[in-house]
Order: sequence, then structure tokens, then C-alpha cells
Amino acid sequence: MSVTANSVWNNCLAFIKDNIQPQAFKTWFEPIKPVKLSNNALSIQVPSKFFYEWLEEHYVKLLKVALTKEIGESAKLVYVIKMENTYGNREPFTEKIPSSNRSTVAPQELDVAIKSKNPELKNPFVIPGIRNIKIESQLNPNYNFDNFLEGDSNRLARSAGMAVANKPGGTSFNPLLVFGGVGLGKTHLAHAIGVEIKDKYPERTVLYISAEKFTQQYIESVKKNTRNDFIHFYQLIDVLIIDDVQFLSGKSGTQDVFFHIFNHLHQNGKQVILTSDKAPVDMQDIEQRLLSRFKWGLSAELQSPDYETRISILKNKLYRDGVEMPDDIVDYVAKHIKSNIRELEGAIISLIAQSSFNKKEVTIELAQLVVEKFVKNTKREVSIDYIQKVVSDYFEMDVATLQSKTRKRHIVQARQMAMFFAKKFTKASLASIGSQIGKRDHATVLHACKTVDNLAETDKQFKKYIEDLTKKFS
Ligand code: ADP
Ligand code: MG
Repeated sequence: MSVTANSVWNNCLAFIKDNIQPQAFKTWFEPIKPVKLSNNALSIQVPSKFFYEWLEEHYVKLLKVALTKEIGESAKLVYVIKMENTYGNREPFTEKIPSSNRSTVAPQELDVAIKSKNPELKNPFVIPGIRNIKIESQLNPNYNFDNFLEGDSNRLARSAGMAVANKPGGTSFNPLLVFGGVGLGKTHLAHAIGVEIKDKYPERTVLYISAEKFTQQYIESVKKNTRNDFIHFYQLIDVLIIDDVQFLSGKSGTQDVFFHIFNHLHQNGKQVILTSDKAPVDMQDIEQRLLSRFKWGLSAELQSPDYETRISILKNKLYRDGVEMPDDIVDYVAKHIKSNIRELEGAIISLIAQSSFNKKEVTIELAQLVVEKFVKNTKREVSIDYIQKVVSDYFEMDVATLQSKTRKRHIVQARQMAMFFAKKFTKASLASIGSQIGKRDHATVLHACKTVDNLAETDKQFKKYIEDLTKKFS
């Protein structure tokens, strides 16, 4: 029987399959194609550089064992990477990398040289008048990897974050986009990556900033005519972490400068880390060219923590605070607060406080009270999608009708109400609300809000609608 790339690989697969989780097998091994076998070297084709790095990081031992079993001690593995057409090249191209031969980290750039070349550069973090190019990282050392507990819900994002921290700018996770709902640890993880990089590479300039603050700085710079300084400042950073990029939606000026900054950093092998409350595909009002950049690297989701992870987060919190609490109480909290780690922590902190201030023992009754209050009191951020759904349901129409161009009065009114509630309950700009609710402009939304205000005062029935709907949102 002749030995071919296919036969070798199939035997390897059978062995690997027996040694890892079915899900991992499906994700990481099924997409691989054997392409060539020559001189005891098996070439396998993987879909991306990310894929190759992941295999090397996690499965290199297993692969080696499997291959050695098949071809003997001299077995070699070569990855053939089919690059996607992301950099404007017409044809997809391939790259061959032998196993365990990682591409090198981009050389360290010194900001000193640039400083002297451009002594007038203004640091947007500095109060005008005081010239200082020292860049504070804005990192919070309390958000680190040690206290970012691992669970199924965050494993991919956490390991990708670790990989980036080990080789900032040197992996294909660039940008690394971490996305997920409120209170699931995006900000914590973003800081943790930065903190870890500062530990490992103290000479690198790391900067954490929220997209909101970034936007404010940009607007300021336009007012003061220092837009170029603003851009140059950000181009000095080695590791740029921007939190909550969904905030940039609808803000085309800020998106535009960010695009330039991003390109510069990326081309120079600098690392960009982004967080967002939604996946790139679901982002609204972000320019296509920017969205496509977001997809260049890796998007990793933080999901709601499962029960075990919730328990370990609570126990870890208690441990760090030096507090003991009966297991049944911890269990109760973990069972009742499921979708938000911030709430989970809030409830346990509140319980700790109650018991220490009142010198009371924590009972299940007290836990019930706290959890109930806690869950009720945390105002949930509603999304514009959700608002449209609720308003459409209320008026028994579908969302497409609500968004349609029709001038039928009851539909127009429903649409205006949706805009009104979006303005009231979300932080979205008028422009962004307009474009998400049937592609209208900001003036239409403004007009809708005024109309709803007026009608609510003059029309009893209308007032009732508003009251009913308001209840549904709060
Ligand atoms: P987001 O930015 O996604 O809204 P945060 O990063 O602010 O969420 O996290 C909310 C809270 O939950 C923070 O106090 C954070 O420390 C905590 N937290 C989130 N994920 C974890 C985790 N995996 N382990 C421990 N604490 C976590
Ligand atoms: Mg956050």
C-alpha cells in the first residue's frame, strides 16, 4: 500500500480525534487539507495565519506525536496558509511556514527620535500650556489576567488576549476585537492585555482609551486646529487599546481619523486592541472600510458566563476580600444572576456590606432581598433594535413596516415613537437613530421627538401609548 499525504493525514486525524474534544476537532482539524508528502515532510493547508498560530499554540505536541507515529522520528510538518484577499491583492496567495518557526516580532520603534523631530507635538492628554510628551498608559492594574477568571464563555478571547500580550503586533490577531454584552468583562480583558504587555515589555508605549474620550479629544483638536497633532500623537503608540468602539457609530469624522491612525499603526506592526458591544457584522453606521479593517484580525466573543464560572468568580471575589460566605448563599446568587458579571459582583459586594455593617449573618432571605433589589435597580441599556421590536409588537406590525417609507398615519406615529424612545433610552446620536430606524436623517428624528412630546401633552390616547411603552422599557 502506498503512503500518500492523504493516507498519512487520515491516520493522524483518527489519532487526534481520539485525543481531543469533538468540538475542538471540528473547529481546528476538519478544515485542514493535506497537500503534499515529500521527504517525510507533510504539508497541510490551513485557512488562515490565525489558524496556523492557534494550532502551533495549542496542538503542536499532539500533531507531533501523531506524525511521528505515522512517518517516524524524522517527520516534519509544513503549514501552507491560504491567505485571504485582505490587503488588496487580487489573488489569494499562499505562504509556507514550517512548524514552530514563528514570524518575528516587529522591531521596537523609539518615540524619542520622533519627539526630537517633532518637538511641537501636542499630547491630547495634557492640559494646554503644559508641554509634556510623557504618555500615561491609562491602564488600571487591578484589571489583570490573574483576576480574569477563565471559563468556557471567555476562553477564546482570553487566550487570544494572552497571545497578543506575549507578542504585541507579532500575531495575526491584529486588530484583536473583543466583543460581547454589557458587564461581561470587555474592559477588564482590554486592560489585562495592556497590563501584561507593560509587564513583559516595559519599553513599549501602551495606551488605553475609551472610544468616547477619543472622540472628545478629536473634537477638541478640530476646534483648536490641532488635528494633525492629534493624529501624530496616536501614531506614536505601540499598543493602542480602544474600548467600546461601537461609540464611533455615526461619527464619521472620528472614524476617519481613526482609520488613518489604524492604518499607520497596523502597517508599522503596532498592536491594536478594540472592544465593542457587538460583532462587526452587527455594527451600524461604521464605515465599510473601517469595518473591513476590524475583520482583518480576530474577533473574539465574550459570552455570558456559565454557572461554574459564575461560582468561581464569586468565590474569587470573596477570597480576595477575605470574606467567608456559606456555599448555599454563593450558590443562590450564582443561580439568580446569570447574564452580567458586573451585577454578579455588585450583589456579592452588597451582601458583604450588609453583613458587615449590620453585623448580621447572611441568610438566604437576605440574599433573596439583595438579589431582587439588585437585578431590579440595574438599569438595563436597551438597544435600538429592541425598541423597534417592542414598538412594532405593541402596534401589531412588523419591524419592516415600522421602518418603511409609508406615510400612513399610524405607521408614521409608531416610527416616531420608536425614535423618541431610542433618544430617551439609548446614548445613540440622532443621526445614528435615524439611520437605524428606516434610514432617516437626524432632522427627521429630531422632528419625531418633538412631535411625540407635543402629542403626549395634547392627546390622551397617545399619552397612554407612551406610558404603556415606557413601562415595557423600564
Ligand atoms: P464590560 O466592559 O464588558 O461591560 P467589565 O470589563 O467592566 O465589563 O466587567 C464588569 C465587571 O466584571 C468588572 O468588575 C470585572 O472585573 C468583572 N469581570 C468580568 N469578567 C470577569 C472574569 N472573567 N473574571 C473575573 N471578573 C470578571
Ligand atoms: Mg466596558
